[in-house]
Amino acid sequence: MIGDQFYRHIENGPEFSGLNVNQGIEPLPSVDENSVKRFLKNKKKNALSVQQFVDGILNGDITILSQAVTLVESSKPEHQEIAQEIIVKCLPFSGNSVRIGITGVPGVGKSTFIEAMGKHITAKGNKLAVLAIDPSSERTKGSILGDKTRMEDLSIDPNAYIRPSPSAGSLGGVARKTRETIVLCEAAGFNHIFIETVGVGQSETAVHSMVDFFLLLMLAGAGDELQGIKRGIMEMADVITINKADGNNIEKAGLARVQYMNALHLFPPTDSGWKPRVTTCSAYMKTGISEIWETIDEYLSLVKGNGYFQHKRNEQSKFWMYETINEQLRNSFYQNEQIKTLMEESEGKVLKEEISSFVAARKLLDLYDKIKKNNI
Ligand code: GDP
Repeated sequence: MIGDQFYRHIENGPEFSGLNVNQGIEPLPSVDENSVKRFLKNKKKNALSVQQFVDGILNGDITILSQAVTLVESSKPEHQEIAQEIIVKCLPFSGNSVRIGITGVPGVGKSTFIEAMGKHITAKGNKLAVLAIDPSSERTKGSILGDKTRMEDLSIDPNAYIRPSPSAGSLGGVARKTRETIVLCEAAGFNHIFIETVGVGQSETAVHSMVDFFLLLMLAGAGDELQGIKRGIMEMADVITINKADGNNIEKAGLARVQYMNALHLFPPTDSGWKPRVTTCSAYMKTGISEIWETIDEYLSLVKGNGYFQHKRNEQSKFWMYETINEQLRNSFYQNEQIKTLMEESEGKVLKEEISSFVAARKLLDLYDKIKKNNI
């Protein structure tokens, strides 16, 4: 039965057939600010302590590991502070892994390869973390390495952990964060770490400075075998693998292999005593994968036997100490407001040739000294 109330709306009257207006409801009370405050306070209270993070990581809890990596990647000083405490506590449990760098131009098949090799590794009962260094990902919205769907099988493998590249920041900053993430992953029990990077820029050098083994993926192409990848990157490679050696590309891949082997002969001998190899594989067909794995094994037993493995890791630790100092000094200098103001002024004066570049730099550094002294 329709009550009186129904007709209180003029549109519900008989002259407006076909249009019913329902009775409204009381407006909801506005959001209680105190409850919001309580919620935020509880959220803070519920945030994990450093020790809880460390315990979670050591127990192999992936959710906690991911949260810790997010802190490592954050640029907020309060996050960085916690992240550094977690890293320090995880350090004694790190180091126990094989770190492998994988590079190659976009489209060469890096993700397909990582998936094939990754499954090969986890099938043997290992735990694999796949990290990436892609400082350009902010520009490309993470499309190169941030796209998890490219490794569908691996991303649902309980023994694999895939973490896209930290996006924002300089190459040095992004690389340092990845270096720190390695520590956390190792502490969480990942005994194999892949670091993927796009073989087009400077990031290979950064990757090289944090891995034990460097794999360069290449394509066989008509006459372009040595193009696209800089000679310096080839020199870093412990193994060059020609991917997509399948179908009617098998022969071309074989020819490319010979060409690369000839090119490698011209390179100076390596410090490790290892003679870089060239192999072929099809990441798609999963052929040639176990051979590469055996080659990596062979490399590891050589360098562990002759002391190069530890020597390289020591050198890398030193490198990252200096890198971190350099990065922090740079940030503290360039992000200082007084410095920024004087920098702008000085730049103008240098351009107008009112002062020399060296005097301008000296003045800026003197100001920085003064700021630091006053702070202490
Ligand atoms: P990335 O950009 O280096 O990560 O390359 P992807 O792994 O995304 O591969 C690029 C394209 O090459 C995709 O279409 C893959 O299916 C294809 N691809 C990758 N590996 C192989 C392979 O071994 N053989 C063939 N025929 N295609 C491959």
